[in-house]
Amino acid sequence: MRNIPSFLLLLSLLTAQAQSNEVDITIDTLAQNTYMLTGSGGNIGIYVGKEKVYMIDDQFAPLSNKIKAIITTLTDKPISYLVNTHMHGDHTGGNPNFNTSQTVLVAQQNVRKRLKINGAEKVSANEMDEQDYEKLLPEITFSDDLTFYDGEETVMLFHVHNAHTDGDSMIYFVNENVLHMGDTYFSGRYPYIDLNSGGSINGYINAHKKALLVIDSETKIIPGHGRPSNKSELENYVKILEDIKQIIQDEISAGKSLAEVKNNNGLTSKYDDQYGTGFISPERIREIVYVSLTSPIKD
Ligand SMILES: [Zn+2]
Repeated sequence: MRNIPSFLLLLSLLTAQAQSNEVDITIDTLAQNTYMLTGSGGNIGIYVGKEKVYMIDDQFAPLSNKIKAIITTLTDKPISYLVNTHMHGDHTGGNPNFNTSQTVLVAQQNVRKRLKINGAEKVSANEMDEQDYEKLLPEITFSDDLTFYDGEETVMLFHVHNAHTDGDSMIYFVNENVLHMGDTYFSGRYPYIDLNSGGSINGYINAHKKALLVIDSETKIIPGHGRPSNKSELENYVKILEDIKQIIQDEISAGKSLAEVKNNNGLTSKYDDQYGTGFISPERIREIVYVSLTSPIKD
């Protein structure tokens, strides 16, 4: 349970930020019809197709009206499909507000399973009403892959196993050449890996390798958090994670304890200035990798 308190703290900080009126939603245009929206919480992807609009993730509920207003500047068509990259509240909090009769909510099956458990807990604690609970849940789920066709565009959803959680999907817009990686990529900073929800360092690195097989040097990447990225940055990022994993594995093999590894600033110092100033500190990344390498995956 070691990871829960700081993550809950992070989520409550982000929620508090989302509730303030000071959050601005900004747009990055990544391809002809594909956009990244940034506000508070996970980055949103919008694809305006010939017939249909696709939305990837929806941040926190208090931001929904602002997000809807921004989307109307991109298209007057309704959102046909809303995809959740995974179950965390900074990516799914807006589900009840966006899940209208015009919109179909899609996610990997473990996202529904976890949202169901978390949502039911909120209902019994009177933090969510029954109606929002039903609209929170994905209506179509898949196990490994799902493909959508829209005119010239092909939209591929593919599941990566035990990466950031046990329900992560990436979404690749083939002709637009844009990949939304959800929280399997924290561009420019150390990643959060939710070990209590089925995440693991090995799955995280494997997710990057799968993404690298799909994309090319022109691909625009929407990370779950951070600025838009590309293949060479992702290649560099996976090298760093592999190096950190090896450094921690060597410490484990040498019999070092979690506390020793957590407190040994020298282990990751060559990367800390660049990657360790976000919400996952150098100490936290060493802890996450150590715990992941020494414990079975939790589901
Ligand atoms: Zn997440």
